[in-house]
Amino acid sequence: MAKKNFRIGLDIGGTKILAGAVNAAGRLVASAKARTVIDEGERYFFNTVTELVRHVMDEAEISAGDIAGIGAGCPGVINADDNIVVHSPNIPFLDGYPLGRRLEKEFGVKAAVENDVNMGLYGEYCFGAAKGRRYVAGFFLGTGIGGALILDGKLYRGFSGAAGEFGHICLECNGPACGCGNRGCLEALVARLAVSGEAAVLAARGKAPALLAKAGTDLRAMKSGVLAKAVQADAEVRELVKFKARQLGLAMGTVVNIIDPEMIVLGGGMIEALGDVILPEAVKGMKAHALSVLAKNVQVVPAKLGDLATVMSAARMAEDRK
Ligand SMILES: [Zn+2]
Repeated sequence: MAKKNFRIGLDIGGTKILAGAVNAAGRLVASAKARTVIDEGERYFFNTVTELVRHVMDEAEISAGDIAGIGAGCPGVINADDNIVVHSPNIPFLDGYPLGRRLEKEFGVKAAVENDVNMGLYGEYCFGAAKGRRYVAGFFLGTGIGGALILDGKLYRGFSGAAGEFGHICLECNGPACGCGNRGCLEALVARLAVSGEAAVLAARGKAPALLAKAGTDLRAMKSGVLAKAVQADAEVRELVKFKARQLGLAMGTVVNIIDPEMIVLGGGMIEALGDVILPEAVKGMKAHALSVLAKNVQVVPAKLGDLATVMSAARMAEDRK
C-alpha cells in the first residue's frame, strides 16, 4: 500500500492558480501555475485545477494513492467546516461552490479549503515569521488590505468565517469611498491604490519629479515597486508613505486593544517593496494609539514567506485538518 507521504497545496487567486506538491519533510517538490479564466465559468475552472494537480503529481512522480490531502486557499468568505466557498467577489462563479467536495471526489483524498489571507497567516505561523507564537494578527497590504488572526495557537475564523477584516476598520467616517460601500476604511486610505492615487496628485503638482518621470500621473502604473523607487528619490512621496504607515498603525493599535496579540505580521506586495519605510512608522502609529500596557508586548515583523506561502500552507492545512 502507498504511504501517502505527499500533500497538494493550491493557491486560487483572481488572476492565477498555483499548485504544489509537498513531501513528508515539508519540502516543495513540484509546482505549476495557470491563469484564472473568469469568463469560462466553473467547469473550465475546475478542469484547470485538476490539470494543475495532475501536472504536479506527474512532475513529483506520485499518484493519488501517495497523497494524504489537498489544501486550497481561496479569496472571499469560506465555510471551512464544509469546505465551501460562500462568497468570492473576484471569482463570482465560485459563490456557493463546494470546492472541497469536488476535490475529494476527483482525487479520493481529504480536502481543506480556507480563505487565502487566513492561509497566508497560517503559513507564517507554521513555518514563517510567527512560528511558535500563539497570539498573532496579520495585515496583508496590496491592492486591498486583508487581515487574519491566530488566537491561542489556532486560526480564528469567527461565526461567519470572515473574522479579521482589518481592511474595513473605519478610520475616517467621512473619508474616501471604499470598495465595501462604506467610507474611510483602512483599505480606502492605505491600500496600494489609495497611496498611488495621492502619489499621482503629487506627480501632477510637480512635487514628485522622479515618480513623474517613471510613471507619469497614471496611478495604475504606480505599482509597489515603482513607489519604492520614488520613495528614495522624492521627499514628498516618502512623507506620504510614512503618513500612510502611521494610519496603518492607528488600525493596528485598535486591533491590539481588542485582541492583545504578542505579534503583528505585516505582509503583501506593499510590505515587500516598502517594508523598510512602512514598518517603523506603523509601529509609531500603533504605539500612539494602543494602550501602552498592551503595545509594549507587541512585536511587529514583516512576513517571511514569499510567493508560494499559500501553496505550502494549504498543503500543511490538508495534513492538520484530517
Ligand atoms: Zn471598506
